[in-house]
Amino acid sequence: MKRVALWLVSEVGEGEAFTKEALREAFPGVSQVDRRMRDLRDFGWLIATNREDDGLDSHEQRFVKRGDPVWEPGRATRRSGTTAIGAGRRREVIEQDGRMCRSCGITPGNPYADTDEAAQLDIARRKVLKPDGTKVTELITECKRCRIGGKELVADLGRVLSEAAALSSIEREVLSGWMEADERQFGRLEQLWSDYRSLPEESRAHLRKQLGLG
Ligand SMILES: [Zn+2]
Repeated sequence: MKRVALWLVSEVGEGEAFTKEALREAFPGVSQVDRRMRDLRDFGWLIATNREDDGLDSHEQRFVKRGDPVWEPGRATRRSGTTAIGAGRRREVIEQDGRMCRSCGITPGNPYADTDEAAQLDIARRKVLKPDGTKVTELITECKRCRIGGKELVADLGRVLSEAAALSSIEREVLSGWMEADERQFGRLEQLWSDYRSLPEESRAHLRKQLGLG
């Protein structure tokens, strides 16, 4: 894994694409070199496939961003809480999260609004600041795009215009108010709802319990 990390940095370069063949040729005789590369993701390395990046062929990947310097002594040891997530735990988290991305709300297999690309769910680690001031890491379901982040979206003005034209007069009034202020003032409830929706399940359960829900 350390050698793969160094190869990405020195031979490929951040932002550049590479083929699976090039990876295998760089490490002749090393078995499961693809897997070693995937392991880097646990250390914050972003490596996109053609599922996350339209500009890639199926045999290509892109080195998006480097993560922890795993080649430094002690850095390749998984931090507590960042051990690989087993398949059972993974299913459990996705189930608890209602089988949807908790950041953008998309459900698996559905295409993103601007592409034909179908969403796939993944598990992310969210840092949660507990009421007592301690910081913990909890698991949350996110789609691969939200996890990898930063993918450029294509704005669809036609769709926005036709949806705006279909607003009722009261909706139009609310929207116009936000536009004039160039700001959407979230109501307290909306803000809390949005905060609740983006908490990991353990934390959502904590809040439900506080409100006397099951
Ligand atoms: Zn998402």
